Amino acid sequence: MKDIEAFLKITELTNKLKADNLKLRKLLWLTHGCKQLYGDDGEMQCSSCSLDFKRDSVKKTESVFNNNAYAALIEAMERTKGGK
Ligand SMILES: [Zn+2]
Repeated sequence: MKDIEAFLKITELTNKLKADNLKLRKLLWLTHGCKQLYGDDGEMQCSSCSLDFKRDSVKKTESVFNNNAYAALIEAMERTKGGK
């Protein structure tokens, strides 16, 4: 009986984590700053940074975000250097 109760508790917690993960991915997808979002049929994709917020790993998402931040920083530094 205790095994079943433990299994049900773990299943409940896992389902809550999955639901929370999906909600946070959706918030990130909606607010990450790009305008070319695709969200038909429950998809959460961005054609600007080529991320699939529903399926891509956190590691890949983090890498793309870091690369985009570095590119924006370099662009800002170039603008400053050019006096624009
Ligand atoms: Zn994007």
